[in-house]
Amino acid sequence: ACRCGRQAAVWCGGGRCRAGRAWCAEHHVRHPGDPSVAYCADCYGDRFPACTEQGCTATGYLRCEYREAGEKRSCGRRVCAEHLERWSVYPASVPGLALCGRHMGLLRRQEPEALLERLLFLTEARRGRRGRAGRAALPRLRVLRHIVINTTRQVRDMETLDAMCRSVQRRWEQTRGGPPDDRRVREAGVRTLRAHAASRAEDVAAFRAEHVEGRAHYARLLAHLRATGQGELAEGIGFSDYRPRSRILFVHVPPRLRGAFIGRGGERIRELSRVTGVEVAVERGRQ
Ligand SMILES: [Zn+2]
Ligand SMILES: [Zn+2]
Ligand SMILES: [Zn+2]
Ligand SMILES: [Zn+2]
Repeated sequence: ACRCGRQAAVWCGGGRCRAGRAWCAEHHVRHPGDPSVAYCADCYGDRFPACTEQGCTATGYLRCEYREAGEKRSCGRRVCAEHLERWSVYPASVPGLALCGRHMGLLRRQEPEALLERLLFLTEARRGRRGRAGRAALPRLRVLRHIVINTTRQVRDMETLDAMCRSVQRRWEQTRGGPPDDRRVREAGVRTLRAHAASRAEDVAAFRAEHVEGRAHYARLLAHLRATGQGELAEGIGFSDYRPRSRILFVHVPPRLRGAFIGRGGERIRELSRVTGVEVAVERGRQ
């Protein structure tokens, strides 16, 4: 008999009932892909949890991995494949961090240093897990820079990012207490940042060398502007970045000077590219 007293029709195949409890026609649900399997309402909810995004009726197969220091467990909100945000911060062979919409939004609003700290925390919290997810590792500084730009829309140079990593390391070295799992994460994070320092130094040195080359192109650009009576432009713009492989010189141009710098139909910026021998581009980041 079903719990309601009526005659039962099926055995529930779920984890709570373990095929030991039977349910009537009204009190069971068929497996969506396999009509030979049925569940009671509770077991069905365990097996096919609903997506927690508002108005979504799909099954939330994945859980949000976000966790904040001081919290005992991760967010755990169930999200369907469509509402899941994958923060792709690891190499392609390692799945990115699974996040609910709320936590991806929270990360986008962080300042760069706070973002780096959270990334390190989530990466260490994941390590030791079985399978591909456990192979998460802190990306190189040049990759971190792009993660920061893409997530927060704020541009920082390599030296600044390196200093941020050291500052997070110092803070974690000095933090005491908190839940045991947080202490484990912090200790592992400090070891990771120490081991990461050598590759950061390499990336900073490479960036400086590129900078020297970029500065030389930039100096030619300024000289040309001054020689052609465009001193106001020369005073107003600033060096931003140089990519040696693609030979692109990024220049910071305040909005009021952009029209003059680019010229009608891009005429002026093409002339500047010709004179300097590299592609001159206007930096789009906020700073
Ligand atoms: Zn059941
Ligand atoms: Zn029933
Ligand atoms: Zn959904
Ligand atoms: Zn979440």
